[in-house]
Amino acid sequence: MYLSCLPSLVFIFAVFVVSILSAQADQWIRSDYILTMAKGQTDALDGFIQIGEDGSIVAIAAGAPEGVDAEAIIDARGKIVVPGFVSGHNHLWQSAFRGLASEQELYGWLAGLHWTYGEHFESGDMYNFTLYGALDQLAHGITTTLNHSQNIAPTYADYMEQFAAEMAAGQHFIFSYVLDSEEATAAGRKAKLVDLMDATAAIEDRHVCLGFGLHGTGIYRSIQRHHEEVALAKELDLDMQIHYLEEKAQSYEKGQAMFSDLSADGGVWDGLVYAHFIHVTDEILTASAAAGAKMIWNPLSNGRLASGLADIPKYLEAGLAIGMGVDGSASADVCDPFQNMRMGMYALRMRDSSAAVMSCYDILSLHTLQTAKVLEVADRVGSLEVGKYADFLIVTPEAPIFDPYATLILASSASDIESVWVRGVKQVADGELLHHDMGAIKAEVAQRIARIVQVESAAPDESAQVD
Ligand SMILES: [Zn+2]
Repeated sequence: MYLSCLPSLVFIFAVFVVSILSAQADQWIRSDYILTMAKGQTDALDGFIQIGEDGSIVAIAAGAPEGVDAEAIIDARGKIVVPGFVSGHNHLWQSAFRGLASEQELYGWLAGLHWTYGEHFESGDMYNFTLYGALDQLAHGITTTLNHSQNIAPTYADYMEQFAAEMAAGQHFIFSYVLDSEEATAAGRKAKLVDLMDATAAIEDRHVCLGFGLHGTGIYRSIQRHHEEVALAKELDLDMQIHYLEEKAQSYEKGQAMFSDLSADGGVWDGLVYAHFIHVTDEILTASAAAGAKMIWNPLSNGRLASGLADIPKYLEAGLAIGMGVDGSASADVCDPFQNMRMGMYALRMRDSSAAVMSCYDILSLHTLQTAKVLEVADRVGSLEVGKYADFLIVTPEAPIFDPYATLILASSASDIESVWVRGVKQVADGELLHHDMGAIKAEVAQRIARIVQVESAAPDESAQVD
């Protein structure tokens, strides 16, 4: 059933997305504060960006564009132009469950969310919840996300609604895929993923899927599954992301003890990305950095769930590649990269009583180019450079600018975003989604949540298992 319905499902939503990202004439953006985040360019550029009809950047240079009609230039002088944020770890469907289990740490929160409501999902829930999460991120300035999808819905078709929703949202994404455990063999599990990748590759360009990865579940299931996933990731040249050493109360010692098994036979390599990676030992840190493994830091979620503070300066010193994520929308209940950057930077500054521990430039780089590098999409997103997609924000500063990086990081919020652009197409203006009816989507989500809550209260069942 899945194999026959998927390509048509992908195609239907791809057609819709093509209309969101349809080609248009060249555009020019003029600003005196373009923060390109390109390597080596730390001074704000007083200049312009030219966007080609395919939505990529064809020129970026100082001064004003020459020979261009003034009416064709979008005047953002006095405003800050910055790459769209990249979020390296997210569970978009969780957006429907914000504020839940507020007094709990990770396992109590999982019990209050996944293990309470997951088994009551029905068709359409994953689609609407994921769409809501993706659009909410877009409105907060996240133009590329890695959706660490989760298999909590009753059927595989329900699970795949997460992919369809992202194809429709208009936000660039990488789909972190869970192998289908309903398939009895490794070959069967692989075939489903390969089929999805092939169906996506066959779609005409201008869709928003930047690629695939694996959501490694062996860490919860078995070492054998971990090594099956590692072998498949390497065979298909995919990165694999795993939750690792996230919380302190129940599992970190067990997780530390697992490292020798996880890393055996090349199980930790330069395609492995840890989400969280807080409670490490020196041995695990050193071995991971030496193997080229990477991590996604999620300070908002780590604060909300009392998970702990990753020692980012120490990890950077050890040579670990680090990106940032806002995590699932019910553990960082507002998917706001401005909050995420401040939470992370301020926590480190508080801990060390030192402002030198993390600069405004460095935290912005972590949430843009460095995350794109970790996700291996820096050839297309993460900085404003010729050849990359024109994914950017125009931010209206709240206050006079002394240092645009400081104004952006310390004195701006998502509410100061004037517009959000993906591939040269304006997606959000003054907080409003331009290609979706967010009011209708919120109403649909509320209705679906009300049904799930009612079913749960009528027939509680604590037997659900989750990836
Ligand atoms: Zn997560």
